Amino acid sequence: MTQVVYSPIEGSVLRELPLTTAAEVEVGISAARAAQVEWARRHPSERGRLIASVAGIIESRVEEIAELESRNTGKLLSDTRREVLRAAGSFRYYGGWADKVVGEMIPMDGDHLIYTSPEPYGVAAGIIPWNVPFFFAAKKIAPALAFGNACVLKPAEDTPLTALLLKDMLRSAGIPEDLVQVFIGGREVGEAVVASPNVDLIVFTGSDATGRAIARSAAERLVPVAMELGGKSPQVVFQDADLEKAADAITLGVFASCGQMCIAGSRLVVHRSVHRALVDLLAERVRGLTVGDPFESGTDVGPQITSLQRDKTLAFIEETSKVGKVVAQASMPGNPALSGGFYVPPTIFDDLPPDARVLRDEVFGPVLAVTTFDDDEEAVELANRTDFGLAAGIWTSDIGRAHRMAAAVRAGTVWINTYRVLSELVPFGGIGLSGYGRENGTEAARLYTRPKSVWTSLAPGAPAGFTMGQ
Ligand code: NAD
Repeated sequence: MTQVVYSPIEGSVLRELPLTTAAEVEVGISAARAAQVEWARRHPSERGRLIASVAGIIESRVEEIAELESRNTGKLLSDTRREVLRAAGSFRYYGGWADKVVGEMIPMDGDHLIYTSPEPYGVAAGIIPWNVPFFFAAKKIAPALAFGNACVLKPAEDTPLTALLLKDMLRSAGIPEDLVQVFIGGREVGEAVVASPNVDLIVFTGSDATGRAIARSAAERLVPVAMELGGKSPQVVFQDADLEKAADAITLGVFASCGQMCIAGSRLVVHRSVHRALVDLLAERVRGLTVGDPFESGTDVGPQITSLQRDKTLAFIEETSKVGKVVAQASMPGNPALSGGFYVPPTIFDDLPPDARVLRDEVFGPVLAVTTFDDDEEAVELANRTDFGLAAGIWTSDIGRAHRMAAAVRAGTVWINTYRVLSELVPFGGIGLSGYGRENGTEAARLYTRPKSVWTSLAPGAPAGFTMGQ
């Protein structure tokens, strides 16, 4: 059985890979478990040095990785280059973390010495989606290894190619071969990973539907799970905002990567007094977007990842056109060579009824829906009118209002007068349907280790534990 990998640029076959069987998944996870025991015994500085050295190897191959990633995902080279460099940054960052995770000593009565020791879980499974394949692979592998775990990675079936390159780079850096496993395939392979008795922690990035299935299966064995899921993030623009700056960021924040971003700012929540001016600025930008081959200079938006995703987005656009007004739409590529590619026109909708599905459900495509408010209270109410809670943008020149909004908006990340800036140093995760658990920064150390509490009796005459009645 094979996994066919396509390029969404022309819809052509890029590669065919052998599918990992359920038996191979279990063999791989057992090998990772065996390798983890030796890995966790190594001095953390030695682990950190090896992990950080992966960064240099990635940096020496940026063009090759970015080109393959762009061919497989249809994303602009400028985007994939940045993501590859961020992946290198992840290895450098978590390499530095490896020998800085320490336990604590807890003061008690004089009879006991008590300390905690942060321990790795064992085998951490990373299951990732197709929108940022190389960077997400790095984001799962680097912290898992830094804190002494093995990592088994299940990339998305449509975009496994750069994860395989990364596996080679880890080997050349001297990371033990069995410590990191990469499995090829889709839902069935993911299910086998989640159900394996040798997986101790699951860190998932993907849709809320898959998140639920994984959480249900993990609950059978009470395996801890962290979930980075989807979003329906609002861009809240007040009457005192810099509208030109907001328009630029809103355009990039929903149309880059053809809208395939968990943090896509897909709902514009704008004050009535600047509604017309801002929508005009956005419409002008959308009409100016060039949709086409991501390798051609001048292209702003590439294709969607699969024909299925394209069809879902086009159906969403059609459904929404029946209830709302299309304010602006970009043109489809004119080049006949791209007629087999999976393109979708970036589109802005306005005049929507409050129950329009586009205001509630994640599209994961280049679609912006506009709603209007009259006062700050209504802005909060509209921003929070979603079961997702991944991110929010707030645009205002009033610092008090900015922070009142930041506190009131239900989201894991809030950007004020900016959008879509991310860093390994800053915790990231969602609320509600956007998931639970946090990755990045100090939160990564908490996610990938668990403290063991050790009690030692110091007083020779002290009772051995509680006496009856205590
Ligand atoms: P998906 O949930 O369909 O698939 C994600 C991964 O899970 C893939 O590797 C897939 O093969 C695997 N999978 C599918 N069913 C499984 C099962 N039952 N058990 C185990 N694994 C299974 O998501 P997608 O369509 O690839 O990606 C798009 C979604 O990901 C969007 O909802 C998007 O918002 C979300 N996303 C979230 C973040 C974040 O950080 N919060 C980042 C990127 C994407």
